[in-house]
Amino acid sequence: MSEQHFDIIIAGGGMVGAALACALGEQNFSVAVIEHRPPVEDWPADSHDIRVSAISRASQNIFANLGAWEDMRELGVTPYEQMVVWESGGAEIRFHAADIGEPDLGHIIENRIIQLALWRQMRRLEQVRIFCPASISGLQLDEERPQVTLNDGQRLEAALVVAADGARSALRDMAGISTGGWGYDQTAVVCTVRAEQGNQASCWQRFMATGPLALLPMEDDLFSIVWSTSPEQAGELLDMDARDFNAALTRASEQRLGRLSLLGERGGFPLRLQHAKQYIKPGLALVGDAAHVIHPLAGQGVNLGLLDMAELVDQLLRARERHYPLGSLPVLRRYERARKGENIAMQGAMDLFKRAFSNDLGPLKVIRNLGMGAANRLTPVRKLLIRNALGTVGDIPILARRNGKRHNFKLQ
Ligand SMILES: Cc1cc2nc3c(=O)[nH]c(=O)nc-3n(C[C@H](O)[C@H](O)[C@H](O)COP(=O)(O)OP(=O)(O)OC[C@H]3O[C@@H](n4cnc5c(N)ncnc54)[C@H](O)[C@@H]3O)c2cc1C
Repeated sequence: MSEQHFDIIIAGGGMVGAALACALGEQNFSVAVIEHRPPVEDWPADSHDIRVSAISRASQNIFANLGAWEDMRELGVTPYEQMVVWESGGAEIRFHAADIGEPDLGHIIENRIIQLALWRQMRRLEQVRIFCPASISGLQLDEERPQVTLNDGQRLEAALVVAADGARSALRDMAGISTGGWGYDQTAVVCTVRAEQGNQASCWQRFMATGPLALLPMEDDLFSIVWSTSPEQAGELLDMDARDFNAALTRASEQRLGRLSLLGERGGFPLRLQHAKQYIKPGLALVGDAAHVIHPLAGQGVNLGLLDMAELVDQLLRARERHYPLGSLPVLRRYERARKGENIAMQGAMDLFKRAFSNDLGPLKVIRNLGMGAANRLTPVRKLLIRNALGTVGDIPILARRNGKRHNFKLQ
């Protein structure tokens, strides 16, 4: 079978891979996307995806610049204006969009909606060819022309291969890139619930010694729950009947939203921290969860992955303008340098948070309460934390800026 040629091959059409394909296809790169399974195309009106993402302003800008945001809005997004973080019997901190003159702090979106809107956009782009269902069975790395072999024997060649195939990236393994990290000995129980007191356009997060409980607002009076706890307790929460689960969840939320009642299924996700030792090799770049997996307590995983992909786009456009090979190490190193430190810092911060709050030691509790209390009282500290959460501070990639469509900007 003869080879098919592309500028870039992307393994994985998840949220990060599909967004990357949209960005590159729009910039006239020829792109192949290899994906196991297509997105869900339609669903019953009253059903909910138990997997949702808290999408930062930077990620919203990326979706808008890719032309997928309007579609997401029509399919259903929920803005939140306030975030309340508290510890039982301890301090509380509240962040409000009005503190920094923003209409909201971000949006909660079902993963199936993000995925579908990006795929619709990807399918509109002539330059993007989708191989699905398909997977990669072989990888031959080369700085000039890396090649992949698909499971049906087709051979594709490109200037660069990008691994966007998630935490268990097969491509990362094929490239011999190892990962570091550890299991958290925690499982996240996720589900959708109805709250007696409505959603109040607010995210709620309670820290407990066993792990954080997050309540993320969805339409009307619904919340998506991410309850990180010990694997034993998670097993019990997943197995108990709905009545007992509702009682346990309502208790854990300290009734801040009144009685909570389960809608539909529950799912469990074991949590771990993982970081690839390298993001690049000649002819290969890792993005998203293939490069890093972090604790979901601040809802940053896909937001970091989208910043990876936006940075890679910046570097590939720069390389094309200068006639550098897209898969060469000097080009890819600029990408790795820009993202690895940021991702490690975020991963470290979440790890620290997780450890600091998973401990009932008296002195630690006092320090936590002092820290939260001070942050809550000091308006500048609160504002800084909010701006960081929006993801729009610092030197962010062009696609992540408001109106950051590439053709409006000159590369520096
Ligand atoms: C409980 C929980 C809650 C979370 N909440 C948030 C949140 O609120 N906000 C946030 O930003 N992040 C959150 N995250 C993290 C977020 O879900 C991930 O960071 C995100 O899904 C990573 O996207 P990705 O595209 O890199 O990888 P994935 O979503 O894993 O996508 C990988 C894609 O590659 C495909 N694939 C895999 N292997 C192959 C192969 N060999 N061949 C072909 N295709 C392949 C898969 O089918 C999939 O489509 C949460 C995570 C968990 C566990």
